[in-house]
Amino acid sequence: MRFSGLRVLKEGFTGNKGWRPHWRDPEPKPEYDIVIIGGGGHGLSTAYYLARDHGLKNIAVLERGYIGGGNIGRNTTIVRANYFLQGNSEFYSHSLKLWEGLEEDLNYNVMHSQRGIINLFHSDGQRDAAARRGNMMISQGDDAILLGREELRKMVPYLNFDDLRFPLYGGLYHPRGGTARHDAVAWGYARGADQRGVDLIQNCEVTGIDIENGKVKGVQTVRGPIRAKKVAMVAAGRSSQVAAMAGMRLPIESHILQAFVTEGLKPVIDNVITFGMGHFYISQSDKGGLVFGGDLDFYASYAARGNLPTVEHVMEAGMALMPMIGKAKVLRSWGGIMDMSPDGSPIIDKTHIDGLYVNCGWNYGGFKAVPGSGSVFAHLIATGNYHPASTRHRLDRFRTGRGIIDEEGKGSQHNLH
Ligand SMILES: Cc1cc2nc3c(=O)[nH]c(=O)nc-3n(C[C@H](O)[C@H](O)[C@H](O)COP(=O)(O)OP(=O)(O)OC[C@H]3O[C@@H](n4cnc5c(N)ncnc54)[C@H](O)[C@@H]3O)c2cc1C
Repeated sequence: MRFSGLRVLKEGFTGNKGWRPHWRDPEPKPEYDIVIIGGGGHGLSTAYYLARDHGLKNIAVLERGYIGGGNIGRNTTIVRANYFLQGNSEFYSHSLKLWEGLEEDLNYNVMHSQRGIINLFHSDGQRDAAARRGNMMISQGDDAILLGREELRKMVPYLNFDDLRFPLYGGLYHPRGGTARHDAVAWGYARGADQRGVDLIQNCEVTGIDIENGKVKGVQTVRGPIRAKKVAMVAAGRSSQVAAMAGMRLPIESHILQAFVTEGLKPVIDNVITFGMGHFYISQSDKGGLVFGGDLDFYASYAARGNLPTVEHVMEAGMALMPMIGKAKVLRSWGGIMDMSPDGSPIIDKTHIDGLYVNCGWNYGGFKAVPGSGSVFAHLIATGNYHPASTRHRLDRFRTGRGIIDEEGKGSQHNLH
């Protein structure tokens, strides 16, 4: 089933009766070449690129709940390539390029909108840091424009330029950044993987990983054992729990991040705006809701919901930055379980167990990484070699201390990245 303008028109005139489910609902087979644990964005994109780029088909994605129920359907949809450090900058640049061809590639409308992102700064020191980051982005081949206070005022006149506690000095503008519809990304990859023969198995929690003589042999699930030559752990916020099934202790802490959406409004916010000093960021969805969030809830937890002190903090920050926001009514808030790594950067690697691979440590930023992560992880699983865009996301950097990619300069404190 392919989507096209003609097809949409035809279905519109015939009561939308011709659409079929986007993917099959297969029973798990007793054995696969590759089993992927986790049907979030990263698990699905890994399966898709394994099939598309490496011709592998005997693959299962095992998901404990339903496709799109994890962080892939809970994030605030920001897509960007504005990283400073080597390791991250080439990786996110690779990912953004994949985003730019994604809708055609998947034949799926993921509503990728390059509306631009503005990171605000509030002092001379922050301006210097933004200029350095912008230069790194440009030298990586991405785009960045340093906006002064008056240029910023022209673009976003509704910000509080008069008496904000942290005065507005300007912003780092990244025009190719933007947003995409998060669950459409999951659905598009799921459909693409399914069309290439991948089995997507929902309601199939993995409860154990079978290892013999240092080699992975398969997994135990609530729907029975499944043998596999290779197993990839892609469980985001639950990565530590899954890795523990293989006797591994990952350097990951799971923390809650909340997000909020208001009632639908006419277009008021053109770009994505981030206010780091206040812990607040915002964009407007195509449906009109203001989508915004702030910082972590600051305690480790596996509950996909948050608490009121953070709600209050985020609302205060929003009111301080753009007082007009006080007129909007908040419709919903929710939380997701973030896999926070000690340096704030991801892990995409083999493990010491033959045939067992790990992909985690996405912190707040794994949505924009979905295409890049899937493509480089598939490359690693299929060929055994690191993809050129991801040579530095090694697990052992936390054991040796070499190759740490600490964008924020916060040191080894998971919840500060
Ligand atoms: C509120 C919020 C806002 C965010 N905003 C942004 C943003 O604007 N931009 C951005 O880039 N990133 C953002 N993120 C981060 C991003 O959503 C995540 O980093 C990314 O989605 C994580 O990867 P995933 O999609 O594979 O995770 P998930 O969708 O969580 O996938 C992991 C899957 O593994 C499954 N699983 C776990 N254990 C097992 C098991 N034992 N057996 C089988 N399956 C299992 C889970 O059910 C889950 O579906 C945000 C996150 C949150 C919560």
